[in-house]
Amino acid sequence: MIVDTSDKGTLAIFGGKPVRETYLPYGKQSIDDEDVQMVISTLRSPFLTQGPRIKAFEDEVARFTGSKYAVSFCNGTAALHGAAFAAGITMGDEVITTPMTFAASANCVLYCGGTVVFADVDSNTLNIDINEIKQKRTDRTKAIIPVDYTGQPADLDEIMDFARDHGLVVIEDSAHSLGAMYKGKKVGSIADMTMFSFHPVKHITTGEGGIITTDSDEFFERLILFRTHGITRDLNLLEKTTEGPWYYEMLELGFNYRITDIQAALGLSQLSKIDSFLERRKAIAKRYNEAFEGLEGIIIPYQKDDRISSWHLYVLRLNLHHLRAGRREIFEALHQENIGVNVHYIPVHLHPYYQRLGYRKGIAPVAEAEYGTILTIPLFPTMSDQDASDVIIAVKKVLNHYRAAR
Ligand SMILES: *Cc1c(COP(=O)(O)O)cnc(C)c1O
Repeated sequence: MIVDTSDKGTLAIFGGKPVRETYLPYGKQSIDDEDVQMVISTLRSPFLTQGPRIKAFEDEVARFTGSKYAVSFCNGTAALHGAAFAAGITMGDEVITTPMTFAASANCVLYCGGTVVFADVDSNTLNIDINEIKQKRTDRTKAIIPVDYTGQPADLDEIMDFARDHGLVVIEDSAHSLGAMYKGKKVGSIADMTMFSFHPVKHITTGEGGIITTDSDEFFERLILFRTHGITRDLNLLEKTTEGPWYYEMLELGFNYRITDIQAALGLSQLSKIDSFLERRKAIAKRYNEAFEGLEGIIIPYQKDDRISSWHLYVLRLNLHHLRAGRREIFEALHQENIGVNVHYIPVHLHPYYQRLGYRKGIAPVAEAEYGTILTIPLFPTMSDQDASDVIIAVKKVLNHYRAAR
């Protein structure tokens, strides 16, 4: 049992002793010797890219998610771009997404010349609100990009039903939700296309990397074409088939968005450990929930009981009515205690680039208001029990200090 003695101490920000000597980041990769060996053996193999490990990695991701195909990309953002292309998004098309996300969820629409329409979030889960989607749909709407915020799946049944009724493509941004479950189904097997990211803070890493899972033959074909310059040697796709054995054709304006075999080897090794990674994340989230539930001044993450989060992020919400300080002071105080808190996310439409495109403050009042209350605390699989205790102690210490006198 860890005795909580620092609780009443002077905050580090006022010169007191910090809860920790060393800085604890909010997220971090988990790399072991097996990962290192897999990468080294690939470096010594004939293929650094376009070799057998890419297909092996894709097959494993498809198997894990229960989807027919998986198409890897050099990062999750490129994968989203590929999915938007495969969905046929082009000038004049509208795509509905959430503002409570990383910019890439929306940017992929702009890359294709489409228009982003932001639908506000549900005030409990901070996932996209189905009623908002219904209000924002027009005759130009072509797709919906829900994001499984923090790892908790969005309202996928409602979103898929609405999309079916109106002929829309659903691209699920599951950068946070590898291994999450929705009504007994794995994320990655539900939407038309699902994106996973393998950035080091995500559930498994390839350094940089991303993937799209899909059951659609048509989307699969377009994704493959898009990530290799729009070039193919597939006899079924070529316009001329009699030129000669060297022959290939460029059919679309694609990109070089391929992942390497070096990265895919790391991904294979990482994926073999996904169950233990997920278990550890869940165990730490459970400890946080127990420590913070009912604590005045904070609200623990709201979880719907028909889905299981993969806990990419643990986002506390501050109840500012009960505190004498704002999120800024609490953020800075926790940093001084050596706790790597963060904020996920600045609503996308508030970024200067989107402001210049004409998106105004006020179009997503729930996301905008909640942005002022959210605070991400550290959560990653190699955190020790003591690390988690430090986070709990520091949050309680800082909140104790700033709790309003009653
Ligand atoms: C990480 C992330 C992405 C982008 O993935 P990259 O691999 O970093 O390009 C997209 N959407 C969300 C919600 C993310 O968290």
